[in-house]
Amino acid sequence: MIKIDGNKFKKELLEEYKEKIASEHLDIRLDIIFVGDNGASEVYVGKKLEAASYVGIRTNLHRLGMKTTTKEVQDLIKSLNEDDEVTGIILQSPVPKGVDFDSCAGLIESRKDIDGFTKQNIFALYNNDEELIPCTVKGIIKLLTHYGVNLEGKNVVIIGRSSIVGKPLALALINRNATVTVCHSKTVDLEAFTKNADILISAVGVPGLIKENMVKEGFVGIDVGTTRVFDEASGKNKLKGDFDFEALSKKASLITPVPGGVGPMTVTCVIENLIDAKLEEKKHQKKMNLKINR
Ligand code: NAD
Repeated sequence: MIKIDGNKFKKELLEEYKEKIASEHLDIRLDIIFVGDNGASEVYVGKKLEAASYVGIRTNLHRLGMKTTTKEVQDLIKSLNEDDEVTGIILQSPVPKGVDFDSCAGLIESRKDIDGFTKQNIFALYNNDEELIPCTVKGIIKLLTHYGVNLEGKNVVIIGRSSIVGKPLALALINRNATVTVCHSKTVDLEAFTKNADILISAVGVPGLIKENMVKEGFVGIDVGTTRVFDEASGKNKLKGDFDFEALSKKASLITPVPGGVGPMTVTCVIENLIDAKLEEKKHQKKMNLKINR
């Protein structure tokens, strides 16, 4: 069994990105809109800002209070869309009840949509013409590729059908010629599906949901789930995945731990999407200049 090391791969990739940004003189700016005071978001935003600064990306954090309205967020997004200094925009989820996340995130200019949530980017993914795809999805595919997992013809079972993980992941894997089954809360007899998976990806958020008797020998396991659970022994909260990790490790050929598997890759792919967005912007500018000079 090989335990996937997302932190190590993240470090290697950040070094590559740092080098690329410096050598190609890429002037990139990331703007994050953080509404409210969600504790987990505070951690995720901190990690994105830290990784961006490390590789030489300028950052701008817009902190908005709990009473912020949808219109205020929309107005901010419109102004960032028009600002040529801004390469990428992230509206950190979740937002407080008074803000309609979808109608705000949907307004982000698609070429600045680092999370890949806008209709244009989703349609591109649907159409197998990927542009900016959700960072967790990209991160999982990068991990599998890095560890030499061939997706073509593989029987992949995804548990979870959310718009940010399960659904876009299913599309991205179909685009790579995998045979994909998506299970969810209404699936009858989950085990009947998971037992046949060459690659099992769980994005649910129920600690220990996937047990040893639910998987086959030699399977590849990707655990996206992260739930904060109080650990009596240490008296602290700990992150737990959907897998019963110790038991599943005995049967897996390759498996991600929680923490230290998928999580670091999500942050890494924020940086990769920013670089991709900048390179696209440069290509577009070049084309426009050629037209003007004709
Ligand atoms: P979500 O709540 O939107 O979706 C959960 C999905 O699980 C739903 O589609 C639901 O149908 C399914 N589900 C619930 N109970 C089930 C059950 N008993 N059996 C089968 N399916 C069941 O969540 P999400 O936003 O997709 O996130 C899922 C998990 O992944 C969470 O723990 C979240 O914290 C984590 N997550 C981690 C990262 C990362 O970078 N590591 C990124 C995104 C989400």
